[in-house]
Amino acid sequence: MGSHRLQKLSLSDIKIEGYSVAGEETAIGLPELNVCFDVGKAPDSLLAVDNLFISHTHMDHVANLAYYCSQRDFREMAPGTVLLHESKCGMVEELLDFWGRFDGSRPPANIIGLTAGREYEIRRNLIAFAFDTNHTPDSLGYTIIDRRQKLKEEYLELEGQEIAKLRKEGKDITYTLNVPLVTYLGDTMSGDFQLLPCVKQSKILITECTFFEEDHHDRANAGKHFHIDHLVKWLPELECEHILLTHLSRRTHIGEAKKIINQRLAPEVASKVVFMMDRFNGHAKNE
Ligand SMILES: [Zn+2]
Ligand SMILES: [Zn+2]
Repeated sequence: MGSHRLQKLSLSDIKIEGYSVAGEETAIGLPELNVCFDVGKAPDSLLAVDNLFISHTHMDHVANLAYYCSQRDFREMAPGTVLLHESKCGMVEELLDFWGRFDGSRPPANIIGLTAGREYEIRRNLIAFAFDTNHTPDSLGYTIIDRRQKLKEEYLELEGQEIAKLRKEGKDITYTLNVPLVTYLGDTMSGDFQLLPCVKQSKILITECTFFEEDHHDRANAGKHFHIDHLVKWLPELECEHILLTHLSRRTHIGEAKKIINQRLAPEVASKVVFMMDRFNGHAKNE
């Protein structure tokens, strides 16, 4: 039995399971890509994911970072890889050192520092690209990119032997095709990342939308979160197939939020929007 009431859905043939409520907890896993974004309370079923991408270090996104590392050890899995802004790596080491003293056994982890513009190879043909978001100092967003070498058009008709010969001669017969699969923004308000082609073209965009009500603009600005008014302007510009809204505040009922989306966005944009909250509040047709 799982430890969480995770919402499970499948978008663009990618399975997603997660939980996301503002201030409470955010953890979103894509097990087939071996990727987990943030780890509020480390759901049981996401412990097996090897690559944990941390957007920022607010408690509702990293509360169980140490638990994730220690449970993997307890279950005899290889140490997890924790990726976050390089300015925070030292603090994660200190956190694990602290647990080492407190618990008696230091949770093992492979900690990797990233900065905006850097890439990390998750596995062959699967890359994570980091970029700055606008929430806390050094908060990061990530795009997971399917990267393949494709044969240039002029060589498509050739037989295998001829291709091998050209390769041997050192001919540059391929080009790189980048397909942005999933972008995760963590917590953020408007920022330069909104212009990045990999974000705008991602098949799936996972973006927070914490606030929906007119009198919540001050809260959104103070906490550096998106308000629906910001997203209403941006979402129509995106080429994404699906837009997964996370981090909704419990101040707004999800039924009300869905109504606002349908009122404020054109039907072709509104139909791309799915909410992630928990199993009981998620998009019914995906349960
Ligand atoms: Zn948060
Ligand atoms: Zn936050």
